[in-house]
Amino acid sequence: MGTFKAWVVEKGEAGQSLAFRDFDEADLMDGDVTVRVTHSTLNYKDGLALTGTSPVVRRFPMIPGIDFSGIVERSDHPEYTTGDAVVLTGWGVGETHLGAYAQRARVKGDWLVPLPQGLTPEQAMAIGTAGYTAMLCCMALDAHGVTPDHGPVIVTGASGGVGSVAVALLARAGWHVIASTGRDGESDYLRRLGAAEILDRAELSKPGKPLGKERWAAGIDAVGSTTLANVLAQTRADGAVAACGLAQGMDLPTSVAPFILRGVSLLGINSVTTPQKKRREAWTRLARDLDLAKLATMTSTVRLEEVGRLGEEILAGKVRGRIVVEVA
Ligand code: NDP
Repeated sequence: MGTFKAWVVEKGEAGQSLAFRDFDEADLMDGDVTVRVTHSTLNYKDGLALTGTSPVVRRFPMIPGIDFSGIVERSDHPEYTTGDAVVLTGWGVGETHLGAYAQRARVKGDWLVPLPQGLTPEQAMAIGTAGYTAMLCCMALDAHGVTPDHGPVIVTGASGGVGSVAVALLARAGWHVIASTGRDGESDYLRRLGAAEILDRAELSKPGKPLGKERWAAGIDAVGSTTLANVLAQTRADGAVAACGLAQGMDLPTSVAPFILRGVSLLGINSVTTPQKKRREAWTRLARDLDLAKLATMTSTVRLEEVGRLGEEILAGKVRGRIVVEVA
């Protein structure tokens, strides 16, 4: 066993610190599969972990990074052998289990999914936890039975990672997509992804009425707080909103009015511990339904060494679309 390069979060008397350094392979945590990480990505939660803004990291030292793709180096798991291409998202990796911003990871084979056919390891991380969560949101709306002929769909936090993938997926599925964004300069970008209308997020971010004009049949919300309350208040009767994020805040200052007077449903999305069957279905659908040319337009690439400076940027809402981290 040797050492490999990793970002490492430590906790000392002065608080949390972050360093790019050599990490001893012998110090990796238990797991039945060791992976040579080839790509990772940057999600909002990674920003929280890298900066210590909220207590995402619950074990020190920690290698942050909540998702990766890579090649199996060693496996005692019956489903994986050396050389297999795999993807991991969630399961507390980068939070309680040593994570993705490193050249090696050792994890439970039960947490992995095989790299979906039709995707490269790089494309899988261009999708990443954010894009996979966008697909879970789409699947929740499908399962609820709300479809494009019921009316438009709104996506909040549209220029971000979850939002960008959600816009592309929903447009491809035939929805009239209303993209809510706070960034003036991203209208053309969002239209290229398939948005039919752009809504200034200021319209949704301030406290509103318990019920408003019915504007959309469905929603995917990455923002939470007052924005989600306003999205619910303006959802058509029997519509549904999939809620996955908290970029504006964790609170939800709403009333029961949308639920009991319009039969609106709020569908909660948790990507971290999604069971394997649903996980694989989501990845299969991503490989089939996501326009890879659009994925390329929403993706930029950085090297592992550059990750340390990006935490602040994603929390400040300055990252557009998706960022792939090249680890090799
Ligand atoms: P990004 O930072 O890429 O996207 C968030 C977007 O939200 C921003 O781009 C911005 O979009 C908007 N936004 C940021 N700050 C505010 C604000 N104060 N008020 C209103 N809108 C704001 O993050 P991700 O796409 O990676 O993640 C989005 C959210 O989803 C996060 O809260 C994340 O924690 C959550 N998440 C949850 C998962 C789950 O399992 N439930 C899994 C993955 C993500 P714009 O500039 O276009 O307005």
